[in-house]
Amino acid sequence: MSTYPYQDRFEINRRLPEAGRSHHEILGELEVMAKEEDAFWETGKCSGTMYCGDHDHYHFLNKAFGMFAHVNSLQRDMCPSSTKFEAEVIAMTLDLLHAEAVQGSTPAGLVTTGGTGSIAHAMLAYRDHANQERGVTRPNVIKPETAHPAFDKACHLFGIELRRAPVDPESTLVDVDWVDENIDDQTVAIIGSACNYGYGTVDPIDRLSDVALRHGVGLHVDSCLGGFILPFGQELGYDIPVFDYRLPGVTSMSADTHKYGYALKGTSVLTFRDQALRNSQYFFLTDWSGGKYCSPGMEGSRSGGLLAATWASMVHLGREGYRNHARRIFETAEVMQGAVRSHPELQLRGKPTFLFSFTSDVFDVYHVNDFMRLRGWRLNGQQYPNALHMAVTRPQTQAGVADAFTVDLADAVEYARAHKDEAPKSGAIYGGVAGGMTDEADSFIKAVMADMMDGYQQVPGEE
Ligand SMILES: *Cc1c(COP(=O)(O)O)cnc(C)c1O
Repeated sequence: MSTYPYQDRFEINRRLPEAGRSHHEILGELEVMAKEEDAFWETGKCSGTMYCGDHDHYHFLNKAFGMFAHVNSLQRDMCPSSTKFEAEVIAMTLDLLHAEAVQGSTPAGLVTTGGTGSIAHAMLAYRDHANQERGVTRPNVIKPETAHPAFDKACHLFGIELRRAPVDPESTLVDVDWVDENIDDQTVAIIGSACNYGYGTVDPIDRLSDVALRHGVGLHVDSCLGGFILPFGQELGYDIPVFDYRLPGVTSMSADTHKYGYALKGTSVLTFRDQALRNSQYFFLTDWSGGKYCSPGMEGSRSGGLLAATWASMVHLGREGYRNHARRIFETAEVMQGAVRSHPELQLRGKPTFLFSFTSDVFDVYHVNDFMRLRGWRLNGQQYPNALHMAVTRPQTQAGVADAFTVDLADAVEYARAHKDEAPKSGAIYGGVAGGMTDEADSFIKAVMADMMDGYQQVPGEE
């Protein structure tokens, strides 16, 4: 039995239709899917992913997008506006990350397709720069275990050895001494997260900065998640350590406009302390029969619409708008973390920010997840140890959501106590992938994941 989406209601397109359909009919079909899918997160019970959740804001961004959606920003002679949007998005991001503190080099940036794109371009830049400047031929990078899988992916793609530094089991922060001891003459960069995706904790970037300077290696700060919210948390007086260009060893930072930048999906900003590092991965082909070619990053054609919408989001909100959104998100996160702390059966992981994760040493915390799901919550599952994570976004700041969390969590703890001798129904989830890893299960789990991904892009066979 196929469970192909909407198969009972809408025709499956296995071939390009001979005759096209009307705008009206197509838009009607799309609207049904969009409305139903939005209802899933509009409740505020879905962790992360819908960072803004405000349809008026989306409508505004879509208008900005629509004016330039058909524009290829690679062809700048035809779209000087793309230069204005991209340059200003980068300048505003550098400003937020305190690039005014940089001395002796010119800060620069790239707008990429997302956090993974920013991290990949950063790793490519470090590899190529270290090769050009230091003759490094067997590059390695050191990341905290808690840093995002995008680093593993980038290293896999670019032939860089990835060394995983352990984190302290209590604080969840990287073991800086381990990083220090494992740097060698082929190390091109070390990594810290501000904050990490799993626990919302901020690595000791100040100490990593000292280590990076002492060894003469790069330091990438992954603030994909925190880049557009933690600076405002600092302004609001929350206890968030300095993690940006004010620390002299920080050489690049990623900040996702498509997360707490409240822009459309498909953009992120990668910034550099020194434009020479960025430029080391510029691509040129000067002797191609099709003409002279160059591109600043991995993409070829890019949408002018995404640049326009990202720019529009930033200049519409301004510091004040971002600060107000941050204030309500931090307040909501505090209420939710208070609810977790009120149960002695639950423990928060480390010292979280707007995003928190909790575990239990009384029962498998996935029992809590099983129950929270019944109440409509979508928390993210983690492993080693089993934990549940909630990234607080604007949909959670709606009236009543934090209170509902408090009530539902209390009931979930009771449920978990009652069912603690049974196996929970849910497991560790990232991007919809289920499974608790053991070495033996690894290849089986990979096969299941591959099947799942195949299913994401396949129409079902005909009856
Ligand atoms: C989301 C995220 C990434 C990856 O970003 P994508 O936009 O999903 O490609 C990297 N690091 C952190 C900390 C993130 O939260």
